[in-house]
Amino acid sequence: MPSSEELHKRRTAAVARGVGSVVTSYVDHAGGGTLTDVDGREWIDFASGIAVTSVGNAAPRVVEAVQRQVERFTHTCFMVTPYESYVAVCETLNGLTPGTFDKRSALFNSGAEAVENAVKVARHATGRPAVVVFDHAYHGRTNLTMALTAKNMPYKHRFGPFAPEIYRVPMSYPYRDGGLTGGQAATHALEQIDKQVGADNVAAVLIEPIQGEGGFVVPAEGFLPALADWTRQAGAVFIADEIQTGFCRTGTWFACQPEAVVPDLVTTAKGIAGGLPLAAVTGRAELMDAVHVGGLGGTYGGNPIACAAAMATIDTMRELDLCAAARHIESVMLPRLHALAERDPRIGDVRGRGAMLAIETAAADPTLAGAVSRACHSAGLLTLTCGTYGNVLRFLPPLVIDDATLTRGLDILDEAFTTI
Ligand code: PMP
Repeated sequence: MPSSEELHKRRTAAVARGVGSVVTSYVDHAGGGTLTDVDGREWIDFASGIAVTSVGNAAPRVVEAVQRQVERFTHTCFMVTPYESYVAVCETLNGLTPGTFDKRSALFNSGAEAVENAVKVARHATGRPAVVVFDHAYHGRTNLTMALTAKNMPYKHRFGPFAPEIYRVPMSYPYRDGGLTGGQAATHALEQIDKQVGADNVAAVLIEPIQGEGGFVVPAEGFLPALADWTRQAGAVFIADEIQTGFCRTGTWFACQPEAVVPDLVTTAKGIAGGLPLAAVTGRAELMDAVHVGGLGGTYGGNPIACAAAMATIDTMRELDLCAAARHIESVMLPRLHALAERDPRIGDVRGRGAMLAIETAAADPTLAGAVSRACHSAGLLTLTCGTYGNVLRFLPPLVIDDATLTRGLDILDEAFTTI
């Protein structure tokens, strides 16, 4: 087998430079909590392929479901000849997402595609143009979702012009907004919408209940419910982008649930199918069904292999109670991260929920987070950074990681902060 070094040479000559990678080690195989590269080196996985492999990599039930489906048929296109697993995934999502009202779902390939379609549905159903998004938001890299995403570099730089009728308002960011309460932060955001957009023009308010790429920002309590209430009164659609937070990641099926926020539409992807590409929009039947027949779709959306993987993934989550597993990971990791912060004044904030946890450095620049992350990589721990200032170390272990592996990972992180 070629070494990572050899593969990297080939990659540099063949793969477009714009597609980056966090490390230059090439994967050979991966399991629940570790990855092994082609050079035979084992990595502890605190990334889960960016919050995807919550049930583990190559999870047994997912592998079996995929194998069975590949043998039956790989693709027919649901828009041509439909099949049961697409319907089963939609039924399951309608039952799992918050809200007891009648729901419908539609399936897509990527998170960005789900967000685009949620906006299409909201605009179509309301007949209004404006979409409200938040500082630090991340919703994808397609043209519409670049416009919805806040950060210029690397996501938007020189890729414009962007789609119109997107309005950005302040996010509740307790560490950096002077400690506003959720209610106060919501008042700021809502005043801006009222004055600059006008409630009657708003099709949708789109928000990540805990921001992902923007820095694992957990809004102050009360922020999300206040936004959801305002949106309902304005006759607009409240869309929760649960693409990174969904499917047990934060200790509940969805991150809206602890504050009993019930979105009109929910976008999901990532953790939904154990690593197979699948995404969905789920929500109120009257909104979803407002769209004319043929208005939503795509060649691969709800591919049968991805749907089989999703059913096996959700079964695994239920069977192993991965929401409880995420809460257990929090109970192991958070005390360690807090202890680290007490010892090291360069750490400004420790936050997150379940198995979506982060350290933000006090300095709003990427130097320390980058150096610590590289030190972790050298010691065999796969970590990611995020945040508008690139100064957030984020931790997304697979929910099936065992305590011993988790603790080894935390030891490496500890050591990295000591040596840098
Ligand atoms: N929304 C959120 C909250 C995300 O975290 C992401 C991916 N990081 C996306 C949308 C886009 O998903 P995808 O990369 O599958 O298009």
